[in-house]
Amino acid sequence: MRKKEARRQKTEVRSQKGTSTKQKAESRKQKAEGKKKKTAASKKKAESRKPKATGRKKAESRRKKAESRRKKAAPKPDRLDLSKFPAESVTQMERGMCLACVWEVFTHHLKLAPKTALGEIRRYTPSLEELHAAVARPYIAAQSYKEPCPYCRAASKWIARLPIYRIESGKATDALRRDLVKSLSKKDNSFVVLEQKATQQHAFFEWLELISKQLDLDDSRWIREVSRHYLARKEPKVDWHVEFERAHSIRRSRRLEEGWEADNGRLFLAPMLFDELLLVQYLVSRSHLAGGLTLEGRYTLPELYHRLRHSGYLRAVGVQSGNPGDALEQLLAHLSGGDAALRFYYIIDRRELLEGAKALKVGKAKGAAR
Ligand SMILES: [Zn+2]
Repeated sequence: MRKKEARRQKTEVRSQKGTSTKQKAESRKQKAEGKKKKTAASKKKAESRKPKATGRKKAESRRKKAESRRKKAAPKPDRLDLSKFPAESVTQMERGMCLACVWEVFTHHLKLAPKTALGEIRRYTPSLEELHAAVARPYIAAQSYKEPCPYCRAASKWIARLPIYRIESGKATDALRRDLVKSLSKKDNSFVVLEQKATQQHAFFEWLELISKQLDLDDSRWIREVSRHYLARKEPKVDWHVEFERAHSIRRSRRLEEGWEADNGRLFLAPMLFDELLLVQYLVSRSHLAGGLTLEGRYTLPELYHRLRHSGYLRAVGVQSGNPGDALEQLLAHLSGGDAALRFYYIIDRRELLEGAKALKVGKAKGAAR
């Protein structure tokens, strides 16, 4: 660990030596900017340091540029508000992109003229393949933005964040999505929408994987969590957070034929819905401690199969196989919606990229991006 740190510091020193004093002063200034509540005195101090580094004239022009950049950069663009969307249909991600890396590739490796390179950067939108690929240069994983670029060591200010919102198509989201897209700024294609064709099954398994990652299977509360997620996916219009706050238990109703009802701190689900929930719980936990844990305790696959057959669930959803493995496959097709078509819409927020391109335009000619 210590070695790594030392190496990192060394690299930093090296990269600082390799660059102009201008950049040093820049980074010092940035540090000063980064401090949340800087006093007027410390501000002055940070600024008074610069003239020592270079000539007065240069420092003055740099100060002006930095001022104007700060004005442009602040405040950082807000995230889109997707709170009206059903939570289970929306996924948010983010990629960082090092503009210094891109600049270097464009101007040094591809030999693009600076103007052309800037134009390319301004027009750039990641493809679906890039969104799904492992993070590689010039992309940076969301958690490491405050660090310098891991590839070229450029200061973190050269890392543009690309927030990405994925919305699953469907009755519950289509109108909301259209309204949202209509409301977004059209300037310079600040937002780009990409469409991906998929199947219901694909969406279901991705959703299952995503919520499984968020759950702690060693904490018994996960069963409630997964139940809430599933019901929210199934009936997105209900505020399940509220229902689950009120309900201390989830029961199989003897009265209801379909749907659910809340009664005195208990959440009653129609038998078919309850059994479906058991299946989801089983799926989430089946790789955990040899078997799937459900509201009714731990089931092996054959046990679950017999349980669902006995309750009439298998018959109700048209699963006739006598073999638990085959039955599970058919159940999954039923549960997920199978091959029915579905679309994912990716809204990519390019505003920081455009801001970054502006900053590059100011600084790139003198190699400030390096
Ligand atoms: Zn970089």
